[in-house]
Amino acid sequence: MITVKALGGCGEDARNCFYVDDGRYHILLDCGVKREIASVETVYPALSRDMAASLDAVLLSHAHEDHSAGLPYLYELGYRGPIYASRPTIALARGFMRKWVSYVKDNGGALPFDEANIDCLDFQDIEKAMNLGIRSGRSAHMLGSLWFFLEPSRILYTGDLCLDSLLLAHDELPKCDVLVVDSAYASRKIDQAKQYKALEASAIKTLERGGKILLPVPVNGRGIDMMLYLRSCGLGLDVQASIMDNAQALYRETAWIKPSPLWSELENHKKDSRIIIRGDGMMTSKSAMESYDALKGSSANTVVLTGHMANGTLGEKVLDHKLEDPIEVDEITIKVHPDCYDVIKTVQSCEPKAVMLFHSLESQALCSEIEALGIKATCTALGQLIL
Ligand SMILES: [Zn+2]
Repeated sequence: MITVKALGGCGEDARNCFYVDDGRYHILLDCGVKREIASVETVYPALSRDMAASLDAVLLSHAHEDHSAGLPYLYELGYRGPIYASRPTIALARGFMRKWVSYVKDNGGALPFDEANIDCLDFQDIEKAMNLGIRSGRSAHMLGSLWFFLEPSRILYTGDLCLDSLLLAHDELPKCDVLVVDSAYASRKIDQAKQYKALEASAIKTLERGGKILLPVPVNGRGIDMMLYLRSCGLGLDVQASIMDNAQALYRETAWIKPSPLWSELENHKKDSRIIIRGDGMMTSKSAMESYDALKGSSANTVVLTGHMANGTLGEKVLDHKLEDPIEVDEITIKVHPDCYDVIKTVQSCEPKAVMLFHSLESQALCSEIEALGIKATCTALGQLIL
């Protein structure tokens, strides 16, 4: 019997964590947090000491906090076994965990683990998980992101998946029996090419009226795609040095990227202080906050928000117009997750018997659509699949 239990991530857009019992092994897929200051039960996966003791292995799909930052908590609960991930994810994950720790401390929250746990985690190269019958492939969500296929039980976990990345390469998903699929944009249809055009149009419109644009972006992933795309439109930019450094570093990661004419824009140093690109996407960093403060007083200026905004972040307050600043706010989602069309396409190509949709608050309609195809499906909070 195969059981996949969501300890977080289903019916919500964070703290992704799935407990798999495939009759041979007990495996945890990711262990993330919800980026909010709230109780342990709300922020961290629904783990117990018994579960931690039962685990044979943990698989980490990528470094983002909503997949990784619960790992020091798992350690606190007693887990001392291997955490398998790609080489870039291993290099990045501790930085994301420390970012989470800083966020909690800066906002008066409490940590349910000792910070020193971060250095004790036993990361192992994903190649070594082949002994457990685990295969992986690139998921094009960020540098180092992987999908996992548990070969004997035919469970496929997509991790966070992007089928439209401009710069990152992805590997075809295998056919499976159980599909645990990223459905972050389950309730939307998003045409990526149109979104990029809208981004360019927003910038040009603001410049034409004499304003400035603030584009807060993740310093990895879509932040680099957007920066190079705007340069390819002939626009000069004021780019935070770390984003530029990450773009240069990504270009050297030849095993993870695909050929694109956009890479030639790395050589283009046209500067314009009116288009300001800062990390991070939710404006929780000092540099993004300072840039926002400098621009917020004029309606000629625009802030463009392109991803998910967690509750309580400056990005969320701006997007929901809680601050009543004169600055114009544009929301232009750049896809780094599947929309409803991508999920259906994935289900049709993987031919699963059962599907678990995660990473979305609004996946019920899509879940019903999949059930109408004669496939067992779940998307409810803390839901489980038994096959
Ligand atoms: Zn992610």
